[in-house]
Amino acid sequence: MGKSNQDYYLAVPKAELHVHLEGSIQPATLLELARRNGVDLPAGSEAGLAEWFKFSDFGHFIQVYMTITRCLRAESDYELIAYEFGHEQARQNIRYSEVTFTPYTHKSMGVDEEVFLAGLARGRRRAFEDFGVEINWVFDIVREPRLMPANADFTLGVAVDYREDGAIALGLGGAENSSPPEAYRDWFTRAREAGLHVTPHAGEHDGPESIWGSLRALGAERIGHGVRAIDDPELVQYLIEHGIALEINPTSNIRLGVYPSYGEHPMRRLHEAGVIVTVNSDDPPLFGTTMTREVELLETEFGFDREAIDEILLNGFRSSFLEPARRSELIEEARSEMTRLREEGSA
Ligand SMILES: [Zn+2]
Repeated sequence: MGKSNQDYYLAVPKAELHVHLEGSIQPATLLELARRNGVDLPAGSEAGLAEWFKFSDFGHFIQVYMTITRCLRAESDYELIAYEFGHEQARQNIRYSEVTFTPYTHKSMGVDEEVFLAGLARGRRRAFEDFGVEINWVFDIVREPRLMPANADFTLGVAVDYREDGAIALGLGGAENSSPPEAYRDWFTRAREAGLHVTPHAGEHDGPESIWGSLRALGAERIGHGVRAIDDPELVQYLIEHGIALEINPTSNIRLGVYPSYGEHPMRRLHEAGVIVTVNSDDPPLFGTTMTREVELLETEFGFDREAIDEILLNGFRSSFLEPARRSELIEEARSEMTRLREEGSA
């Protein structure tokens, strides 16, 4: 990959639809949060934390996640992570993000919703004012049968109440094989009735049945991951016919062992079949990646040409849950910026 292509992937306008706020906290921010709240971290420097973040196995990943959550206590902590998230998105020219946040985890760690919601609202607003990036929230229910129904009730309630402050969709996360999507049907029905969009994680650690369940029982409009759809030709056809986009996170899939290598990852086959694919980073510092890096992989690992890469980037805007008028504006802006950058690059 030439230097000019690398510059292009950083500069080109992007939308990111699958990224977790808690999994996007950078080492420098975590150090500050730990200092504020008197939490002992396993490393005291940015480099040390970056090393500790590095994915080794799922158990370690969860441990890192929980440590990060313990460092979040006050409204200003939540404001900081939302603001810093916006800062990093702006650095990569990610103009628009739909960001997953898991309210019940924070509630169960003893932080009241008034505290984290006010912090997120301030951070989101300041990131827009200072960096011009837009953020909306996907609040996700963690799949965990023993927390039901309190978990789903709480998450739905927060998402419905918070629509004015950027809650745009209800998600479903956690261990996919712990309970099938059908168990969450009622909450997703109520979410749709309240005007929220629906994007559950499915087809990552579990196969096509989990995606079918998300479509039929939950009314999924997009699928988080969804890569395992490739195992069922009928499902691939359904996704194409109904314009259901997949939020694909290649490096996350490799780190978590969904596929052994990029060579075996179905990104390219899904795209060529006609499924709407988008590219995303999931938990970037924890998987040692960035959104820009994931875009580079489209060229270096998946062999897409420039035209296909631009289409996949535009899919990010097209598949967003924005109001149609705003969505069209962002698509037009991105298109003309792509043309300008291409002309500049070849001049
Ligand atoms: Zn995810």
